[in-house]
Amino acid sequence: MAWLESLKEIEELEDAEFDTALVAEMEQFASLNPDRMVRFSTPTFKEYESSELEGCGKNTFPAFSITAGGCALMCDHCEARILEPMIPATKPEMLDRKVRQLIATENLQGFLLSGGSNRKNEIRYTRFYPVVEQLKRDFPHLRIAIHTALTDAAGAKEMEAAGVDVAMLDIIGAQETIREVYHLDRPVEDFEKTVEALCATSMQISPHIVIGLHYGRILGEQNALDILSRHDTKALVLVVIMPFYAKPGTFATPSTTDVGRIFLEARQRLPDRQVLLGCARPPGMHKRVTDAYAVMAGLDGIAFPADGAVAVAGMTGRPFHQAHACCSIKLGDNNVSNSIATLSRSSCAA
Ligand code: SF4
Repeated sequence: MAWLESLKEIEELEDAEFDTALVAEMEQFASLNPDRMVRFSTPTFKEYESSELEGCGKNTFPAFSITAGGCALMCDHCEARILEPMIPATKPEMLDRKVRQLIATENLQGFLLSGGSNRKNEIRYTRFYPVVEQLKRDFPHLRIAIHTALTDAAGAKEMEAAGVDVAMLDIIGAQETIREVYHLDRPVEDFEKTVEALCATSMQISPHIVIGLHYGRILGEQNALDILSRHDTKALVLVVIMPFYAKPGTFATPSTTDVGRIFLEARQRLPDRQVLLGCARPPGMHKRVTDAYAVMAGLDGIAFPADGAVAVAGMTGRPFHQAHACCSIKLGDNNVSNSIATLSRSSCAA
């Protein structure tokens, strides 16, 4: 039975609408490519339960903001709200104290270092690195991720030297998006230079592309894929814009068909990399259809899969497994294919 027909038999997707041509294209592509394992990640920092998978319910991988709630950019899709749930650590000693306390009380396994950025989309982490370095020395099992923001070769080396394991940043492919959504006066090339600088270190690089970042329109996504295709980042995390922090009416929701097309394009253009669907995407039926497309397009992992995703994996014949990883940072595992960070709900530019 063709996939389009089989999808109708999946109870959770009963009312879902799929694009006929796109599903056929995905089926055709899959028939020419070997089945890839799909990993369903149910991270530990968020309550999660679907009808098919259970979460594990512990908070062992928190995020710290070195600026508390402050950010100079105030991007239109975020307005610094992503920082609100993070634990404030505006001084190095606050980070040190809190991490040690959480190791003792909550079995902390690692953390994300983040913060709001300055007007140049940079975050000044330097004074925190001695603490990071010492924590890593005292607790070698800790996995440390960082939102890099824009940086250069020296900045990337500093992160590496401090013992950061995973470097995360959003890749923006359209100048209009940088200017209008981010209120930032820097060229697209600076994002590529940052990727280049990070790739020259031993850190795992977890670049994110936010589909629909330009007010819900598809604009710079292809160029962002071009940028990544020129650098060996080993992985790519795709998320879909969720502008629930934005002013009402300023962002549209990208269609699931547009999102699915980017999935397929990413898969085709980066065949040897881990291409993952991260936590952020619109909820409800949109998410069910999006996740079904992610499985059909051949993405390697899905964070918080929607109901029906496991059934779609069965339908396509793809093997799957569930990982209770902190948004795919599989703790203590240095195998790149198993340790890609997709931490934030909507990944932060900073
Ligand atoms: S995405 Fe990052 S840089 Fe932009 S407003 Fe949010 S915290 Fe600030």
